[in-house]
Amino acid sequence: MRVLFVSPEIYPLAKTGGLADVSAALPLALAALGCDVRVVLPGYPKAIEAAVDKASPIDLAGICVAGAGSVRVIAARTPDTHLPIWLVDCPALFERPGGPYQDEHGSDWPDNARRFALFCHVAARLALGDAASGWRADVVHANDWHTGLLPMLLSARGTDRPATVFTLHNMAFQGLFSPALAPELGIPASALGVDGMEFYGNMSFLKAGIRYSDQLTTVSPSYAREILTPAYGCGLDGLLRERADDLVGILNGADYRIWDPATDPHLRANFTATDLAGKRYCKQALQEEFGLEINPEAPLVAYMSRITGQKMADVIAEAFPALLERGIQLAILGEGDHGLEERFQSAARAQPRRLAVHIGYQEPLAHRLQAGADMLLHPSRFEPCGLTQLYAMRYGTVPIATRTGGLADTIVDPGDRPVSRGTATGFTFARATSDGMIGCLDRALSCYRHPLAWRKLQREAMAQDFGWRRSARRYLSFYRDMAAGAAAPMISEPKLALA
Ligand code: ADP
Repeated sequence: MRVLFVSPEIYPLAKTGGLADVSAALPLALAALGCDVRVVLPGYPKAIEAAVDKASPIDLAGICVAGAGSVRVIAARTPDTHLPIWLVDCPALFERPGGPYQDEHGSDWPDNARRFALFCHVAARLALGDAASGWRADVVHANDWHTGLLPMLLSARGTDRPATVFTLHNMAFQGLFSPALAPELGIPASALGVDGMEFYGNMSFLKAGIRYSDQLTTVSPSYAREILTPAYGCGLDGLLRERADDLVGILNGADYRIWDPATDPHLRANFTATDLAGKRYCKQALQEEFGLEINPEAPLVAYMSRITGQKMADVIAEAFPALLERGIQLAILGEGDHGLEERFQSAARAQPRRLAVHIGYQEPLAHRLQAGADMLLHPSRFEPCGLTQLYAMRYGTVPIATRTGGLADTIVDPGDRPVSRGTATGFTFARATSDGMIGCLDRALSCYRHPLAWRKLQREAMAQDFGWRRSARRYLSFYRDMAAGAAAPMISEPKLALA
């Protein structure tokens, strides 16, 4: 089974969120199951620098995206895991400072349509064996809107192509651009109608992926159901309902090679479920690092995420007084909405020994937060899967989360049962409001006051196995079924020159 896994971010080469973790761990788990998996990533400068075993770049001619300039493919391997990776080296579009999608000030790159259209054209060539190596995929696995054109480009080939699967990691990010760009991006006119990728007057790269992919997956069973409704479908629920028979929810996993408190190199002390002593040192280290009062008894709550409406950062900002009056310490790591970042920071300046904020993206600090905190506050208005709650559980850090999407699928709330007798792993709340969140925190705090019950909860959480093996098996059997089925052409008038 030859699988081309195409993603705009892959840890540790490029990361803005959970997609990078998935794109590193799932291909590795598939390779362990015997899959011949190759990964494709844009050639961001840091990614090219960090990749190992780089072969000489191979020039690609005839890519029909205006303004791309020189386009080359660099065959390399991922550091540590040594998976084969192709980096799409296009200096005019990818060689710049800042992040994968945004500049240093947090503004989207104005040419994102061109950048990710180019990425998809090159990935299509790689999938078909037309570029670089002659290797041809049986299945192409595309991820999120950045790769949405890829199923469309392959579909234009009729049946002479690999099967395609498109994974929806977050419906809120859609890749909307003016249809006037279509000719210079190599998008056929036949795809621009409402039956194609048109979305309220724009082209939607996400819709293209949903429309033209043979199969669809998303990252948890609950989110797979939720996105069929107007409340979660972000305007595409009608199309998703049409394609409901082709949509499955496969839960993401946690990469325990990287997220394991027993071996984590970023911690002051390591620990396990049977010996939690090291966690106390980690808590003290975190209090020191964040300038909080050194107090082993104070419940230390972490909030670590993109600072956005999805993650209810606005609700957190409003709730600071109510949160702190409960005697907790709050340690925050994140970045996102600049107005909310400023509100977080000014609240922290007012009470520095109880509320501390680090704005930025710091991988090692994320590990230290998971290890040192007692609880992870994880409110979300919607959550396709969520990985931080999985990591938190492994670190004995009890999640307090909205009961939605993957959070609902992975956290077991004690409900009315005593924690000491059940199999609870965290606390969840149904309504994405400040009251819902505070009420849930209160339940967690009353459990925290009973050390034996709390230990039981921590151990239960740490014992959960969200490793990738099971989900990777599901993907593999899914790929096999797809590769066995015939690929049906979906664009009636293919006008693309792919070769
Ligand atoms: P999402 O992809 O919606 O942002 P996930 O929970 O799926 O949320 O994944 C978030 C990933 O990003 C996790 O690996 C988490 O540790 C990491 N992360 C989030 N914010 C930060 C930050 N400020 N610094 C370092 N890592 C972060």
